[in-house]
Amino acid sequence: MAKESIFIAADDSAMVKQIAAALENMGYVVAGQADRGEVAIQKVEEMRPDLTLMEIRLQGRINGIEAAKRIHDNFGIPVVFVSAHADTLTLKTAILAQAYGLVIQPFEARDLKSNITMALYKHGMERKLRESEERYALAVRAANDGIWDWNLKTNEIYYSARWKEMLGYRENELDSDPNEWFKLIHLEDRKQLQANLVSHLKGLTPHFECEYRIRHSSGEYLWALSRGLAVRDANGIAYRMAGSQSDITARKLAEERLAHDAVHDALTGLPNRVLFLDRLQNRIERTKRNPNDLFAVMFLDLDRFKLVNDSLGHVVGDQLLITVAKRLQKCLRPEDTVSRLSGDEFAILLDVVKDVNDARRVAERIKGQLKTTTTLGAVERSPTASIGIVMFNKDYTTAGELLRDADSAMYYAKAQGGNQHQLFDNAMHISAIELIRLEGELKRAVERKEWLIHYQPIISLASGRLIGAEALIRWMHPIRGLLPPQDFIQAAEDTGLILPIGEYVMRAACAQVKAWREAGHPGFWVSVNISARQFQDKNLVGKVAQILLEMGLPSDALRLEITEGIAVRDREYTIKIMNELNALGVHTSLDDFGTGYSSLSYLKQFPLKVLKIDQSFIQDIHLNRKNETLVTAIISMARSLGLEVVAEGVEKDEQLAFLRSQFCDSVQGYLLSHPLPGTEFTRLLR
Ligand code: C2E
Ligand code: MG
Ligand code: MG
Repeated sequence: MAKESIFIAADDSAMVKQIAAALENMGYVVAGQADRGEVAIQKVEEMRPDLTLMEIRLQGRINGIEAAKRIHDNFGIPVVFVSAHADTLTLKTAILAQAYGLVIQPFEARDLKSNITMALYKHGMERKLRESEERYALAVRAANDGIWDWNLKTNEIYYSARWKEMLGYRENELDSDPNEWFKLIHLEDRKQLQANLVSHLKGLTPHFECEYRIRHSSGEYLWALSRGLAVRDANGIAYRMAGSQSDITARKLAEERLAHDAVHDALTGLPNRVLFLDRLQNRIERTKRNPNDLFAVMFLDLDRFKLVNDSLGHVVGDQLLITVAKRLQKCLRPEDTVSRLSGDEFAILLDVVKDVNDARRVAERIKGQLKTTTTLGAVERSPTASIGIVMFNKDYTTAGELLRDADSAMYYAKAQGGNQHQLFDNAMHISAIELIRLEGELKRAVERKEWLIHYQPIISLASGRLIGAEALIRWMHPIRGLLPPQDFIQAAEDTGLILPIGEYVMRAACAQVKAWREAGHPGFWVSVNISARQFQDKNLVGKVAQILLEMGLPSDALRLEITEGIAVRDREYTIKIMNELNALGVHTSLDDFGTGYSSLSYLKQFPLKVLKIDQSFIQDIHLNRKNETLVTAIISMARSLGLEVVAEGVEKDEQLAFLRSQFCDSVQGYLLSHPLPGTEFTRLLR
């Protein structure tokens, strides 16, 4: 270990000699000496000894006391005084000069040694403490934390400048009173903070920690995290507690954002399914405590939304969903919850309803709100929806059950044509089971070919002759009798069974038209309906070609009907398939025209041959002039596009007369004939 060096400042040279000898004896190095204050300062600065021995009454421009102070303050070197006097004044002076010791002359070596040893030790400890304090201060500053230090005995608290600054206060503001802190804390968080403080002070927690909102001087709240530790006496009683406070507002906001996003729909900002089910479950629990406290759940599905998406694009579809979300909110009270479950499905929790009529009134209000026209891309439309309603009763225990039944009721509303609401009743349950049974029965029907094809005549208005027929399937159900397509086509589509069924229809229709052609009606054709699933079947064109080949049937004997929704789903694909069919010689008709969202000019891009105007337009013809104008416009536009026009659903003479006056190409409807079994149709042909 290096020897400690000591500087001697004294003007009595005999004394200096004596001290120097003693020091060397003790194993110290004498760094140097000076006999005047200013010289001592200068030399100490150069030599940097570990300690200075200074005579209190040192002479010079600068006296011993002043020199000692400068040496300590400027160079951080401890000073031990030497004095021939031990009176109170001398002692006080030494203390004021921050001396590390006082050796009284004449000294004893023992006294000198103990003074120097203690001074060096004390100074060393101070340096270490200072370093660690500096390190701590640095760390705190780097962490940007505010510091508090609470004297529990006096109940005084120190807040660091940063602590105050964080809350918008200057260093001289705020008293050293813990209440200055507590009163800034958000009322809802204050109890928690105090509880956490108390349990740490009682020794129940290893450290104190709490997150709370605290008011900034601007009046706004920020989120803070405070951590601290109590210092305890021998009995374990805390007498001091200190800690930090950091601003965690950014983190809290990010957490809140994440928590919000997890339970909300990004597009509309509405609660999502998770949050909806959660609120619904809470609502059920609430009702358990008060059985007279009724509520209702609605399931809402937009009518023909897929068509908007398919024909006008997702951007327009999204726009519509946002509009609908806003309109729904307008119809409800703040306590109600409206949620977007997925796609175009919304769920509503009507928090308080007296009875069914209350819920029905809300449904009517929604219907009214939605009805307002909205601009979708270039078109104006009034959105409509199908709504299922379920009233809570004590048989329900889970949110899922309520939502499921509201969903079933919605399906009923949709099946009735949409734009209406239906109240759930238990019969609807049975129908879900029915649906499963239907699937099984359909499979059997495919195997046993329980199908019957009816043909509905299509008549040319120019010649008045029967030129073709539409093939329409019926199901010969062993128990329920002859079933119309609307009872099973959707289920067949959903299960994929439509593929074998569709192929059966096509074969049967081709065989039939071949027979009619051979019986003396050479130009006769038959039109077959193609569902979405069939149209998407990559093998469709191949299958059609193969059937025609097998039958030895010219391709102009077969037409295919697809709806607008199918055509616009994938523009490129539709064009490709239609071109392939045209190359084969099989023409495509656009069925039910006018029920979708596309304009004729949009349809221009498809290589279509025939347009079938939907029966709803035809049946409205005589009701008002506007519909007549619409039909006139459709016919003339179709003609300009080179399309053949077929009017469907002609039931009345005046409808026929009108269509004739507009030079519609051909007509189909009950007025001329209902769809007929093949044998009856053959009779009609003759
Ligand atoms: P669609 O293709 O629009 O067929 C016309 C529907 O209108 C037929 O109903 C027909 O009976 C009915 N109809 C004909 N004239 C009149 C009339 O003057 N007034 C009224 N109110 N209705 C009339 P149907 O046979 O019940 O078929 C319904 C739908 O089922 C068809 O509509 C078609 O989309 C579908 N469909 C029928 N057969 C098949 C098939 O083999 N395959 C596929 N995928 N769908 C089929
Ligand atoms: Mg059709
Ligand atoms: Mg049709």
